[in-house]
Amino acid sequence: MLSCPRCQATLEPTAIQCPRCRLPLKAHGHPGIPLHRTEGGEALCATCVYDADDTCNFPQRPHAETCTLYRSVNAAQDMELPALSPGQQISFWVRNHRGLMALGGLLLLSLVLVLVR
Ligand code: SF4
Ligand SMILES: [Zn+2]
Repeated sequence: MLSCPRCQATLEPTAIQCPRCRLPLKAHGHPGIPLHRTEGGEALCATCVYDADDTCNFPQRPHAETCTLYRSVNAAQDMELPALSPGQQISFWVRNHRGLMALGGLLLLSLVLVLVR
């Protein structure tokens, strides 16, 4: 039986919020979007697979107390995730380091302009 993490009231599996304390249980008021919530003092990111593989770009990282995308590293290990291809790894790296890529592009452009003079 499900219970509210704040007040321990009994919950229906489809409940969007706790009927007693009104704690939101689903994101955006939608029953299909789970809202993961930290238990205890540790942020969700500390045990999230998207923090571990450095692919998360949510602004609340690394201190998220609630998150719609949280995925436990322990659950991920149990599921045997397919390995990322080198192309996907490069794509994730570029996406997470856009500023560095822009700076590198400017430096390269400056170098080309100096050499063609
Ligand atoms: S997906 Fe959520 S819990 Fe996971 S690292 Fe990003 S912000 Fe943290
Ligand atoms: Zn409650």
